[in-house]
Amino acid sequence: MIRAIKGTRDILPDEVGAWHRVEKAARELLARYGYREIRTPVFEQTQLFARGIGADTDIVAKEMYTFEDRDEERSSLTLRPEATAGIVRAVIEHHLFQTDPALKVYALGPMFRRERPQKGRYRQFHQVDVEAFGMEGPSIDVEIIQVALGYLRVCGLTESQLILNSVGDAKCRPAYVETLRRALRPVASRMCADCQRRAETNPLRVLDCKVPEDQPIIEGLPRISDHLCPECRDHFAEVKRELDLLEIPYRLDHRLVRGLDYYTRTTFEVTSGALGAQNSVLGGGRYDGLVRDLGGPELSGTGFALGLERLVMLLPAAAGEGRCDAFLAVLATGALDRALLAERDLREAGVRVMMDHDGRGLKSQMKKADKLGARFVAIMGEDELASDVWTVRDMTASTQERVSDVKLAEYLEGKVRG
Ligand code: ATP
Ligand code: MG
Repeated sequence: MIRAIKGTRDILPDEVGAWHRVEKAARELLARYGYREIRTPVFEQTQLFARGIGADTDIVAKEMYTFEDRDEERSSLTLRPEATAGIVRAVIEHHLFQTDPALKVYALGPMFRRERPQKGRYRQFHQVDVEAFGMEGPSIDVEIIQVALGYLRVCGLTESQLILNSVGDAKCRPAYVETLRRALRPVASRMCADCQRRAETNPLRVLDCKVPEDQPIIEGLPRISDHLCPECRDHFAEVKRELDLLEIPYRLDHRLVRGLDYYTRTTFEVTSGALGAQNSVLGGGRYDGLVRDLGGPELSGTGFALGLERLVMLLPAAAGEGRCDAFLAVLATGALDRALLAERDLREAGVRVMMDHDGRGLKSQMKKADKLGARFVAIMGEDELASDVWTVRDMTASTQERVSDVKLAEYLEGKVRG
């Protein structure tokens, strides 16, 4: 038997209601903040991600699905591991920054990373990605955080925690990274293999390390919060002031550097204890140099990405919704044509209707109607057929009445709407 690829998941019809709810909630909430949807391809040139995410990140070094195209150039293509790089490419390619007075966009869709699959970690997963371009002030960082938290709230997630940091900018971070590199030299040999490598190639990543033995060493390293330039310090102070103003609680974590190289200044993550080891629901921050690095103008950016699998996992299961309002139980052989016409008219009137297609008996049809959650069952047996009527049973009230065939659509529409 052919099975789904390891790390991929089918979202089955019984689960899809939860997905529709969170997708709808995203669209509604984001519209209130003035964000519009953008849809970019799921594959792009490999170098977009290599340049946009950073060669020494886990994503680019180990997790990308990269393949050669069959064209003459043998171009290297990659399934998108995240959405920001593709969105930035589209913003540059279509000069959106010249025409859109408030360039705020979002995307919804699948991402691909070759990770070790486990609960809450898949090789194809879905994100809501939200980005605002060309806005420098700290208040847009705060808006982005508000959107993220507001979204979790409207989805029904009550327990979550905002973690906040500033990682400096092109002015102050290089000096800090050097300080960190120097501080790591005498201690790196006592750390895990990944940290030994990162100590030279990408020292910031060391702060991300989860290996227990390394923790005491990492705690003793110099902190970015003590090395921010005055502009970054002011920006961060203002972000915190506005969060306080809006009564948004946060926890500062000087080790929150995030997995991608392009972040500047504000970085944040939202975690939920209920998720266990894979506890981050979303992460984001500011990335002021990215648009320029990808060949565009000097244009600031700030945004976040949220994992929908993890969000859906956290939400209380909603009661399963009925799949039809009415079920037509066709018992008389000659009643099929009436049922087909009635179905057509009912659907045109906006009523969700289903019927039996296998000529079963009343008992089995009633059972099926019940399983489908039908509120009304319209029965046509020999008797009804002879007098051009349906016996309509109200399944909740356990009552029934006869309704003439020509009036059925109007009758049921009224019942369902009312
Ligand atoms: P983690 O630390 O859990 O690996 P990350 O920092 O790699 O997360 P981001 O790249 O910031 O994650 O992506 C944002 C969100 O996307 C995460 O918070 C998470 O909810 C979700 N996510 C990331 N990778 C996966 C995955 N492999 N499977 C499911 N969801 C994921
Ligand atoms: Mg990751």
